[in-house]
Amino acid sequence: MKNIYEELLGYSEVDVDHSLAAMTTLRIGGKASYTVYPENQVALDSIMRLIKERNLPYKVIGKGSDLLCSDDDFDGVVIRLDRHFHHSYFDDCVVSAQAGCSIILLAVEAMKRGLSGLEFASGIPGTIGGAIFMNAGAYKSSMSDILDEVLVLRDGTIEWIKAEECEFGYRSSIFQKHPEWIILGARIRLTPKDSRQISDLMEDRRKRRMASQPLDYPTCGSVFRNPEGMNAWQLIDGIGYRGKRIGDAMVSEKHCNFICNMGNAKAQDYLQLVHEIQQKVFEKYGVELHTEMELFNWKQIV
Ligand SMILES: Cc1cc2nc3c(=O)[nH]c(=O)nc-3n(C[C@H](O)[C@H](O)[C@H](O)COP(=O)(O)OP(=O)(O)OC[C@H]3O[C@@H](n4cnc5c(N)ncnc54)[C@H](O)[C@@H]3O)c2cc1C
Repeated sequence: MKNIYEELLGYSEVDVDHSLAAMTTLRIGGKASYTVYPENQVALDSIMRLIKERNLPYKVIGKGSDLLCSDDDFDGVVIRLDRHFHHSYFDDCVVSAQAGCSIILLAVEAMKRGLSGLEFASGIPGTIGGAIFMNAGAYKSSMSDILDEVLVLRDGTIEWIKAEECEFGYRSSIFQKHPEWIILGARIRLTPKDSRQISDLMEDRRKRRMASQPLDYPTCGSVFRNPEGMNAWQLIDGIGYRGKRIGDAMVSEKHCNFICNMGNAKAQDYLQLVHEIQQKVFEKYGVELHTEMELFNWKQIV
């Protein structure tokens, strides 16, 4: 009988022991036993059948821009769609995009075609799949504002789900309740607008991000969700944690809701800082801070 590596190789390129640190924007994480890059839906479906037959742990990741991985190795299969599922098709105001499309590149493409709606996403370094999963957003807009339908592989079948059925909320979606579903693509509805106006807005926001976010260090974006009517960064500032450092994990001096990897941050140090902030904010303000980034591959939480 073939081993799992040989079987996966029948359907996709396979990396063995590829570092999760290299697959995430935070640059933290152990190694994944197998990383696959299916070329199409048939290959992906076959890989999923194999994974289920063998009862292997698996994780679909996009650009890894919202993940805090542990330093442990992941004894399972990481599925990446950004290498091959990255095509988009424009038809008037509707763009059909595969899940692995970079949302930044899609925003630029829409701008060139004089289509408005994706400006908010032009600084979010994720894929369409990850952005739908998180209902990513900025500047009071989010994915759910522009989505018509999402193409999903679930229970061995591929189907379109209407946006209204995706239970979108603030950084939440039905997909977070069903991590076994795989988002394959989406239909996004945009609005005609002058390209110059769109690009001016995107440039303005780019400058705002450059001025306010620590983009020169590895991060996973905002660490905490904003509690109703409050800004997480103000609460973190209020407990005196601006610039607080544990090992190489440090609360950004520039933006307190970003925790940077200053060089070789250990996942445990990062998480300890997260927990300390949650505890101190609760003690001082009675407010529970919930993480926006997702913990992946943590067998035990410090
Ligand atoms: C500098 C910086 C700035 C950021 N700014 C913002 C911001 O303004 N607004 C915002 O909302 N976020 C922001 N983020 C966070 C992050 O970029 C977004 O949440 C993004 O949508 C995550 O996409 P991803 O492809 O990297 O997902 P990943 O981090 O790879 O995955 C996130 C989750 O989505 C799931 N997932 C990914 N693809 C699929 C798929 N095809 N099918 C099923 N599940 C899938 C994964 O399993 C995982 O659970 C920022 C991050 C950084 C580093």
